[in-house]
Amino acid sequence: MKPQAVEKQRKAVALISGGLDSMLAVKVIQEQGIHVEGINFFTGFCVEGHTHAVRKKHKDKQKRNNALWVAEQLGIKLHIIDVVEEYKDILLNPVHGYGKNINPCLDCKTFMVKKAVEWIKENNFDFIITGEVVGQRPMSQRKETMPIVAKDSGSDDLLVRPLCAQQLPATLPEREGWLDRNKMYDFSGRTRKPQMALAEQYGFDDYAQPAGGCCMLTDENYAVKLRDMWDNRPSREYELDDIIMLKMGRHFRLAPHLKLIIGREEGENNFMQGYKRLFVSIFPTSHPGALCLVDGEFKSDAELQQALALVARYSQGKNAPEVTLNVRQMDGTEQEYSITPMAAADIKSEWIV
Ligand code: SF4
Repeated sequence: MKPQAVEKQRKAVALISGGLDSMLAVKVIQEQGIHVEGINFFTGFCVEGHTHAVRKKHKDKQKRNNALWVAEQLGIKLHIIDVVEEYKDILLNPVHGYGKNINPCLDCKTFMVKKAVEWIKENNFDFIITGEVVGQRPMSQRKETMPIVAKDSGSDDLLVRPLCAQQLPATLPEREGWLDRNKMYDFSGRTRKPQMALAEQYGFDDYAQPAGGCCMLTDENYAVKLRDMWDNRPSREYELDDIIMLKMGRHFRLAPHLKLIIGREEGENNFMQGYKRLFVSIFPTSHPGALCLVDGEFKSDAELQQALALVARYSQGKNAPEVTLNVRQMDGTEQEYSITPMAAADIKSEWIV
């Protein structure tokens, strides 16, 4: 008997954000007998990276890395790739500009797919999948912009979007018969109902916020803080610590050269303790209160007094006649000051970033 040719096991890599769409996209492809692994890119702007992990606000909710959790649910291997350095150029110089806030979605998606193209070449995989849906997002997921991502990333017809594949031209995996187009979907628009229905069909009843909700660059408050940082520095260059600090605490811009970051709660205070070697810090000693990191410098005693009064205001001694505070320099030297807490009415709205 003539031996039969064994079909090669086809392999796809999925961009995993941790949201429902990428989870569904993987499942749709797995159902067609394809081996799927995931990639998650760490840009430094992921919400869950620090904000969710540190803040105690929803402490009853289990803390998890959604991308890892999705991978576990789907039984796939997840490759977490640090792109913090490379991503700077995408954020600072987006060819296609920013979305509503400071999100360079079109450039960002193109960058990530391009990285995935390099990855599949290096790892001998056949194609790439994403959870994108035509018309779902105003910037990167419009019918006119989706081909831009495919073309500029170099992925061309190796990029499969299983949730809306029937709305798009057939890709190589479909033409080669590795994937059945009829077993993919034609979702479009901003409604989440088809995704929810498919999730129910697959028995997924616990999933993270939809795409975008897990990226700080789409957050209005974060965008304001990032712009403030850029506006008050000689250059827009940033380090990972800078963008992490923008996720922490209340920010008060007292002067172009001086910003205070005051912890909002215990989890943040604890996290910020780790930054005391990088910033001058202030904390109340006579009353329980928040830790403050000083981003910049005091150019006068009046600025120091103003900062002390503000930090005292956010301590439990805010109604006391006097609060004692410790000012610690980055080299560890400390000095104590006593001050009357600032009255709420004296906190200027233009300070609040
Ligand atoms: S939401 Fe954030 S991670 Fe997603 S494409 Fe836009 S910039 Fe990139």
